[in-house]
Amino acid sequence: AEKILEVENLKKHFVLEKGVFIKKNKIIKAVNDVSFSINKGEIFGLVGESGSGKSTVGNCIVGLYKPTSGKIYYKSERIDQIALQEKETKKYRDGIQMVFQDPTSSLNPRRTVRQILEVPLKKYRKIKGRKNLDREIKKLIKMVELSPGNINKFPRSLSGGQKQRVSIARVLACDPEFIVLDEPTSALDVSVQAKVIKILNELRKNMELSYLFITHDLSLMRNIADQVMVMYLGQACELADNESLYNNPSHPYTRTLLSAIPVVSEAEEKLKPKDTEVEGEIPNPSNIPDGCSFHNRCDKAFAKCSQLEPEFIEIAPGHFVRCHLYAKRGE
Ligand code: SF4
Ligand code: MG
Repeated sequence: AEKILEVENLKKHFVLEKGVFIKKNKIIKAVNDVSFSINKGEIFGLVGESGSGKSTVGNCIVGLYKPTSGKIYYKSERIDQIALQEKETKKYRDGIQMVFQDPTSSLNPRRTVRQILEVPLKKYRKIKGRKNLDREIKKLIKMVELSPGNINKFPRSLSGGQKQRVSIARVLACDPEFIVLDEPTSALDVSVQAKVIKILNELRKNMELSYLFITHDLSLMRNIADQVMVMYLGQACELADNESLYNNPSHPYTRTLLSAIPVVSEAEEKLKPKDTEVEGEIPNPSNIPDGCSFHNRCDKAFAKCSQLEPEFIEIAPGHFVRCHLYAKRGE
C-alpha cells in the first residue's frame, strides 16, 4: 500500500529549567523513539493515557512542535526539519490539518459559521465571490450533516457536537488529504460521539482521507481503525493491525486497557481478557522507571523487567510488542 505518512525514531524531549521549585534541569521525554507509518486511506489509532505522548506525536506531525530528533515524511517529503512558518514546509504541510479536542476554544467566538468557513475557502481553495463561497459553504455544512439554518449562527448558539462538526467542516475547507484528530469526541456527550465518529468515517471513505486518530479510548478504535498503536510513557508498547490487536492483544498494558472496557454482551464478556488489572497511577514522564517503564504497574512483571528495557519485537507479521514475555527463545 502507498504510504502517506512515515514517522521514524521520533523523539520530543522538553527541558524543565531549574528554578525556585526545581533543583536542577529536568528532561521530560514526552516522545522517546517512536516509529510507525500510515497507509493512504487508512485510520491509524494512536491510543494512550494522558502523559503517554500521543498528542505530542500529533503536534510534531502538524508542525506545532519541532522534533528533538527523528524524521517525519509526508508523501515521501521530509517535513520535520524546517519550521512551520517557512514556505517550503508550508507547501508540503498544506494537505495536513488538525482537529482539536475542544471545539469551543478552537472556533473564533466573534465569527459566524459562514465567516469561519470563508477564511480557509479563500486561502486554500482560492474561491472568490459571494455566490461561489456560499455554494461551497453549503456543501461543507451538508458534508458534516449540519442544517443550513446554522450558517449565520455564532459558535455560542451551537451545541458541542455542532461546534465540533463546524471544526471538521473548517478543516475540510482546507482541502486536506491527511487529518490529525486529537481526541475529537472526548469533550462531547456519549450520544453525540457516535454520530461524529460516523461522519468522520464516512468523510474518510468519500474523500479518500487518511487519519491519525488520537484517543485515550482503545474501544473507540475497534470498529474504525485499520492499525492501532498503544503508547505508554513516550514509547510504543504495541502496534498491530486491527484484527491482530483486538483478537490477540499481547502487551499486558493493552490487555489492561481492553479489560477496562464495559461489556455489552455475554459473548464479548467471554472474549475479554480477565487476567490483568492496572494498578497505581501513570508515572510522571520526567521520571520514567528503569527497565520496562510499565513494570511498577504490571501484574506480569518479573525480575528482568525492572532491570532491562524490552525491545519492540515482531511477534506476528506487522504485530509488534515491547515486553520481555515475548523475548526470543535463548535470550
Ligand atoms: Fe510487564 Fe515485564 Fe512485559 Fe514490562 S516487560 S510489560 S513489566 S511483563
Ligand atoms: Mg492530549
